[in-house]
Amino acid sequence: MFSIIALPYTPEALEPVISAQTLSYHHGKHLQAYVDNLNKLTAGTAFDTLPLEEIVKQSTGALYNNAGQVLNHNLYFTQFTPNPEESSGKLLRQIEKQWGTLDAFKAEFESKGVTLFGSGWVWLSADEEGTLHITQEPNAGNPVTRGHKPLLTFDVWEHAYYLDYQNRRAAHLQALWQIVNWQEIERRYNR
Ligand code: MN
Repeated sequence: MFSIIALPYTPEALEPVISAQTLSYHHGKHLQAYVDNLNKLTAGTAFDTLPLEEIVKQSTGALYNNAGQVLNHNLYFTQFTPNPEESSGKLLRQIEKQWGTLDAFKAEFESKGVTLFGSGWVWLSADEEGTLHITQEPNAGNPVTRGHKPLLTFDVWEHAYYLDYQNRRAAHLQALWQIVNWQEIERRYNR
């Protein structure tokens, strides 16, 4: 049995980057539906007690889609904070080694989000050597299926931004940097 995660901030806390209305639909309706579907699909099966990452790696079809969307949204909603601190530490040094500057990294990440055709997610992930990768994953995709550790993600499904930004996906993605919790991304990298 899977439960919906609680948001680690109040519904208004991320405004104006993400409105309380968007959060109420995105978390309360979209994620809740993925959790409900996942519970229906796993009830009485061996998947019922597996970690989400294992289900995503081992499943296909509706189960893969719903488990993937729960995993993705859990990582998405817990990576934001109304009081972000600057990036620091090992992850920032690796970003600077690979991209030169944090701004150059952000530019490529945003661009990969803008150019992802249709619904999906842009991800920052780390391989076994700690090398970072930016990937475009369609629909419910997560870089765990590449053997990578997922670190940071921007949701480019229209439900993530349409109420606040309508068709302006690029403006939404650019604004998200204001609320990224780099301490959390760093924790994921060092885990
Ligand atoms: Mn979403």
